Parts: sequence; structure tokens; C-alpha cells
Amino acid sequence: MNSNDNLPTEVVSAIRQVVGNGKHTLHQPSFSSLEVSMVSECIESTFVSSSGYFVDKFEKSLAEYTGANFAVAVVNGTSALHLALNVAEVSAGDEVLIPALSFIATANAVSYCNAIPHFVEVESETLGIDADKLERYLVSICELRDSECFNRITNRRIRALVPMHTFGHPSNLERLLEVCKQFNIVLIEDAAESLGSLYKGKHTGTIGTMGVFSFNGNKILTTGGGGAVVTDSQELARKLKHLSTTGKVSHKWEFNHDVIGFNYRMPNLNAALGCAQFTKLTKFIESKRELYLRYKSAFLQIDGITLFGEAKDTYSNYWLQTIILDESVAHQRDSILQQTHEVGLMCRPAWTLLSDLEPYFETPRMDLSFTRSLASRIINIPSSPDLIG
Ligand SMILES: *Cc1c(COP(=O)(O)O)cnc(C)c1O
Repeated sequence: MNSNDNLPTEVVSAIRQVVGNGKHTLHQPSFSSLEVSMVSECIESTFVSSSGYFVDKFEKSLAEYTGANFAVAVVNGTSALHLALNVAEVSAGDEVLIPALSFIATANAVSYCNAIPHFVEVESETLGIDADKLERYLVSICELRDSECFNRITNRRIRALVPMHTFGHPSNLERLLEVCKQFNIVLIEDAAESLGSLYKGKHTGTIGTMGVFSFNGNKILTTGGGGAVVTDSQELARKLKHLSTTGKVSHKWEFNHDVIGFNYRMPNLNAALGCAQFTKLTKFIESKRELYLRYKSAFLQIDGITLFGEAKDTYSNYWLQTIILDESVAHQRDSILQQTHEVGLMCRPAWTLLSDLEPYFETPRMDLSFTRSLASRIINIPSSPDLIG
């Protein structure tokens, strides 16, 4: 066992080498006078709520940027996931396959549909779902009935797979899509963290039937709170927009609603902030990729720690920089977190596995031993775009 007691000190000095002195949060947004003037313009227009010029412009920018035919902007990433699952016809009692390593929103959105999250393993190459393990697992537990996939053990339909592009790094979408086709499962990407990340040159979120983004304050582009669903299907886009707008049938003065919809549309005020942020997105990504290179040379000297880098065939936005401890130094994680916090460097462990959270104790899962080991060795380190001038 490597009992390098100096490891926490070495980590602090590697981070300091890159970020300099002072306190640093994990990730803070970057604003200038442009955000102030666009938000002011929105206020002056009096159109601050769920329709208006900036919402249309923001949706258009997102569709153009990602290459999706349609984008529907909503109040946050969680509601975007909920809507996407809803229009994918995830119904009460269905199962939805999601990685055990994710933010709770991925699982909660499934629960909002009265469906059941079914947790699957992630891999070290992408930090996303391990497609080979998933395929073997589904072969062992599933059967097709009238060309729909059923879990033979629980007797429930498996309707969708929601891979998540962890910390901005694209999952192995090609293989995941193959598995989905084989089992007739809908692929919906949780691309909340991966705006700007590509898989084989295609934008994450556009490879599945739908893709979901978040524009929360800690994401690479923020609208304050916000989210969106992108899709190439006109029919799905129409449903998404209709459901997110309380199911209101468009009419100049009448209020008629033909389904029980949701009040999920993104307010114009938030979209104004997003439009300003969009002009800087390329710069944010360049900063984060440069930050990765600087951390890489700083961490090269430290035994037992690897800075996570993008996988083959992918281009990552490097939203959150990530160090991974070798098994031999895994027991030092908390001392590293302790020491970095003490000196004002905000670092964070990976999320508690969703399968270990109280609301999800009783849900189905495959063997998660690798995910458990990997997650216990992850630390995110300061990643703000402004760290690179
Ligand atoms: C941020 C995030 C979401 C959505 O979060 P909101 O705060 O609702 O915008 C969903 N999934 C993952 C993995 C996220 O990181």
C-alpha cells in the first residue's frame, strides 16, 4: 500500500500551481456587462415571462449550435428530463435504465413519471454507462414481447435508457445506441453537463431520440435556472412545447387546454441571460480545455493520481476537471478533501451513488462494484472558466 502521507499537500500544490493563490470555488459563472445589458433590455421590453424574443432566440441558438432540428427551452434540466421521458411514453410501472453515478435529477425525473429507475454500471474510459456490461446484462434478464423489452425478473417493461455525460465527457454513444436498437429501448441523453461536447463530431444530446441540457448557475452556460430538450423530430418537439406550456391550445384569447400539461416554459428573463452567455460559449470551452492541459502537467508529477482526459472519438467541454485516485491511495480521499477545503480550494467528491440513496434503496440494479470503486476515487477540482484569462 502506498502510504504517501504527503499526498494531500502535493494535491494542494498542484492545484495552486495552476490557479494561483486565493480562494477558488468549484465552478462559478462568468459574466460581463453584456449579460447586464441584455437582461436590462428584456426588463425594459416588459416581456419577462414565458414567451418573448429572447426565448425564441435562445432556442434557435441552441438548435443551431448543437445541430438539432428543434430545441424547447424550459425552467430547468430536471423538468427537461421529465418532459423528454413523458413524450417518450415512459409510463407508470415502466423501468428506465440510468447510470448509478449521476445527479439525483436523472432518477427523480423517472420517478415523476411513476416509472422505476434501474441502475447500471459505468466504465473508466468515459465515466458513462459501460455498454458491453449493459448488453450482457440485458441479454441475461430481458426478453422481447411483441417487440417491447421486458425485464423477466420484475415483469416490467424497460422503456428507455438515459446515459449521462459525466462532468461533460461524452459516453460511448455508438455502442449504447446499438444496445438500444437491439432491445427496442428509447435512447434519451442526459446531456445536462455536456453542452459543447461531441461524440465522433456530433453534438451530445443529438444522437439519442432526445437530449436534455441544464443551464443552472453551475453549468458551462447559465440562464440562472434553465434547461432544454433537443430533438430532430418535429412531432416530439411539438409535444414537448405543448406539454411545457400547460397544454394550452394556441388561440388569441381563449383558454383551452387539451391535456394535463406543465408550467415548464423558460421565462424570457432567463433566456436573455442565456443569449448573452451563448456569445461566449466557445471561449468558455477553450478556457476549460486549456485548464485541463495546465492541470495535466501539474498532476503528472504525482504518483497515484490521474487527471481524467477525454476518451477516444470524443471532444469534451471539460466542464468539471476530475482527478481519479489509484486504488492504492483511495483511502486518502477524505484527507485530500479536508486539506483542500482548509486552504480555500473547493473540491468535491462524486455524488453518492443513486442506488445508495434512501428513496432508491428498493430499486433494481445490476452489479455495481466497479461504479462503487470508481466513484469513491473521484475528486472534482476548481474548474471555473475565468481561471484562464
Ligand atoms: C445539472 C444536472 C441536471 C439538471 O439539473 P437542474 O438543476 O434541474 O437544471 C440533470 N442531470 C445532471 C447529471 C446534472 O448535472
